[in-house]
Amino acid sequence: AIDIKHIRQAPGLYSQNCIDRNYVAHKDAPWKIKELHEEWLALQLNARGLRERNNKLRKQLANASGSLDEDVVKVAQAENRDAIIKEAKQLKTELSGIEETEARLQEEIQSLAEDLPNLSSTHTPVGTVPDVVGYINNHPEPVPSESDRVWRSHVHIGAELGIMDFSGAAQTSGWGWYFLLKEGAMLEQALVQYALAVARKRSWKQVAPPSLVYSHIASACGFQPRDQNGEQQIYAIEQAEKDKAKPSLVLAGTAEIPLAGMKAGQTLEDSELPLKTVGVSRCYRAEAGARGVDTKGLYRVHEFTKVEMFAWVLPENAGEDYFTSSGGSTSEAVFEEMLSIQTEILESLGLHCRILEMPTTDLGASATRKRDIEAFFPSRREQDDGWGEVTSTSMCTDYQSRRLHTRVRLEKAGRKLDFPYTLNGTALAVPRVLAAILENHWDERDYSVAIPEVLRPFMGGLEKIQGH
Ligand code: AMP
Repeated sequence: AIDIKHIRQAPGLYSQNCIDRNYVAHKDAPWKIKELHEEWLALQLNARGLRERNNKLRKQLANASGSLDEDVVKVAQAENRDAIIKEAKQLKTELSGIEETEARLQEEIQSLAEDLPNLSSTHTPVGTVPDVVGYINNHPEPVPSESDRVWRSHVHIGAELGIMDFSGAAQTSGWGWYFLLKEGAMLEQALVQYALAVARKRSWKQVAPPSLVYSHIASACGFQPRDQNGEQQIYAIEQAEKDKAKPSLVLAGTAEIPLAGMKAGQTLEDSELPLKTVGVSRCYRAEAGARGVDTKGLYRVHEFTKVEMFAWVLPENAGEDYFTSSGGSTSEAVFEEMLSIQTEILESLGLHCRILEMPTTDLGASATRKRDIEAFFPSRREQDDGWGEVTSTSMCTDYQSRRLHTRVRLEKAGRKLDFPYTLNGTALAVPRVLAAILENHWDERDYSVAIPEVLRPFMGGLEKIQGH
């Protein structure tokens, strides 16, 4: 149910969009789709002519006995029944050949269209540079130097406090995995519970999703096994020989995938929207080639816990009946709500952050618009001035719902079926936030980290993690 008509009508727009979003390999696909469609149309026309001729011949044969139809008389007279049968057979072969080509063309069109990224919003800067649109808890400007205060990386602090173990995990699973110990492990659970509590307070419904998903569900959400640079993104599950015919499974990189997939093939009622869900999951990322400078610590790992928000909202074109009466149900409003939940969480954790309107090259496949929040990591001062992404919020319009066949019945618009819009946003991704808390709240004088007040109720009232 991809809007292929729109692609055909505006191939230039879709092609430029591929270039802007760094999907350069796909830039000719919109033109190819138009070309294949024209080929398909010509075949259709040809097939129609052949079918008409075929019907006529069949009628002649069927009526050959008993009817005084002029044609039939002709058949009888000319004794060309055999010739007609021969021609009909030939037509049948020709038609089935055409039908096969038609189906192949449709498949090709579909697969080219599926691989195109969503169109970008008017808020999105074109290129590679984000717009800084706000700060949370102000940025510590100018970036403090080592002499102002002793800054340590979370790897160092984690070792001092005895709450992380990377080498043990290297033995069980490899580099990029970790054990959280004692207060480190408690802090993870506290962060999860706190983020869920904030989302629930704003009436987001909690869902516990599965970690394994079908690869076709992941790709319908915009996650391909490899990214546009050919790097492996997703871990695939090896199928047992007896299951080879079954659809393949992958480890979800984010709860966005099972949450979106939960409504695949379903029709939602307009009265259910906006439908706002929040789920905790373990996230699995192959991150092949991406670790580079982040090989140490929690910043870029292969497995982590994340609290994710996912929502279905009414499509923008649902009509005035909806948007005059039910304010707050638009994509824009839910996008703002996600950002305000993230802001509340990061602000109360005492982290310095900046909010970015992400540029076209950062939107991935499914987003029309994306805002990231970056926190200040003292250990990253030499790199990106200390900024590191902690949340990401995407507006996906109908990109995912079309691919997942999720519909909404618009009762007020004559029960018309349409595609709902989807949005997703990080409520809290544990490892980077945990690292930022350790680095920003570390006190070198007594080797301790103050636990943000909002987390204390989830840690038995503990106020500090105390080192030796
Ligand atoms: P994404 O789903 O890629 O937009 O990521 C959402 C959030 O998850 C990011 O803002 C990070 O906080 C976190 N995250 C993503 N990838 C990793 C990773 N490999 N290791 C640790 N945290 C990650």
